[in-house]
Amino acid sequence: MYGLAFPKCPLPIPNSRRKVIQMPMEPMIGLEVHAQLNTESKMFCSCSTKFGAEPNSNVCPTCLGLPGSLPVPNRRAVEYVIRTGAALNCQTAARCRFARKNYFYPDLAKNFQISQYDEPLTHDGYIDLDVDGEQVRIRIRRAHLEEDTGKNIHLATGSSLVEYNRSGIPLMEIVTEPDFTTAEQCREYLTQLRLILRCIGVSNANMEEGAMRAEPTVNLVDRETGEATPKVEIKNLNSIRAVYQAVSYEIERQRRAVAEGREDELFQQTRRWDEDKGVTVLMRRKETSDDYMYFPEPDLVPLEPEPEWVEEIYASCPELPAERRERFCTEYDLPRYDAEVLTESRQLADYFEETCKRFEGSAKMVSNWLMGDVMSLLNEAGITIDQSPISCEMLAELLRLIKEDVISGKIAKDVLATMFETGRSAAEIVEEEGLEQISDTGALESVIDEVIEENPGPVEDVRAGKDKAIGFLVGQVMRKTQGQANPQMVNEMLREKLT
Ligand SMILES: [Zn+2]
Repeated sequence: MYGLAFPKCPLPIPNSRRKVIQMPMEPMIGLEVHAQLNTESKMFCSCSTKFGAEPNSNVCPTCLGLPGSLPVPNRRAVEYVIRTGAALNCQTAARCRFARKNYFYPDLAKNFQISQYDEPLTHDGYIDLDVDGEQVRIRIRRAHLEEDTGKNIHLATGSSLVEYNRSGIPLMEIVTEPDFTTAEQCREYLTQLRLILRCIGVSNANMEEGAMRAEPTVNLVDRETGEATPKVEIKNLNSIRAVYQAVSYEIERQRRAVAEGREDELFQQTRRWDEDKGVTVLMRRKETSDDYMYFPEPDLVPLEPEPEWVEEIYASCPELPAERRERFCTEYDLPRYDAEVLTESRQLADYFEETCKRFEGSAKMVSNWLMGDVMSLLNEAGITIDQSPISCEMLAELLRLIKEDVISGKIAKDVLATMFETGRSAAEIVEEEGLEQISDTGALESVIDEVIEENPGPVEDVRAGKDKAIGFLVGQVMRKTQGQANPQMVNEMLREKLT
């Protein structure tokens, strides 16, 4: 029995007159996220987890499920799930168990997956989101530990290959309550979750590499009567955009089915997202947890993380991206946009703060240089801030030279590029290449006189009160000095001479 009656639904509507009727039904969406943990070795053996290795080279009897092999839990993976629990305001269980999830699939060599079932490692947390100015709290049901499966590779010839390097890589499953009501909220959750997982260093959460996958469950509910459509799970989405689109599509599909009285389309099922067509497609009627015959894993003793260790992990949870973003706005008086960009990675945020400390000038100036010229140099070179040849100290020195009027902002851009290329300091480059700004009135005077003589037209305009022309004259002086003149000073001196 999966169909439900919808009393407010006008039935039946002739095909030709079918149209969407707004039903008082709200989407109810839950998200399951799988994230590969950043450990060096696998969950239950010492095989490497390195991505991109030769197929079936990172394997051993345990992760190939050979008879007689025994699993040994990876302590670091347990630590990472507890750390995630701490970041998501969860409680960590004093004692929990691993469970066997039984099913057959070629990429699952043992014919079962070691997971957690009724006793997850961490549970009952929440995350607060800001979605278009609205505060939304999403409850986290649990974050538990399991192992990844291998990977089937289907060839064009019709045969299939199985790759077991991924088999046994520690996987964390984070499950929310069905608290989302829009696709936008799902998108924001995944964006923030990814930032958090990276910030606390447990996963690179790279969806393109499959290191983070999301599975939304979507249905519609009438909040007044509690009546709901059956749940639809969408499998293995590997980008935030795909989640957003698939959830939007699925809400609309169910709304139409309800409005048009097509109850036969509403049953508990698993669908997949067809990226090219932009639709969800039925895969199978949903299996229930009974189908997996879960039972406690007999090869592993219950997990009882020492309380002191757990406490230590909770206490060492770093400042999370959302808090840091708020602090950047208040402490450094940055616009919201800057704070968002700078806290996108912990390394970038650290770099910003370190540079501010050393520069002792305007934080906004640091932010502008970092988000502008520094980022574009890094992007061009295809590296991240922690690999930058320009240290915080070096950037701070460059900014000091600008602030103290030793070089102009324009020259500083070239100096920065040279620093990036050679690793030399700003002061060294400025001195060796004679780039100091000309702030000496005597030196500027002769150039200004030359420009006045060569440009009688604009000079006349300035005298006649056309202020725009002064910009042209300043530009001419800058050109003659290869950008080294102090523009502010040139401007003042020109005005003095011409008015
Ligand atoms: Zn192994």
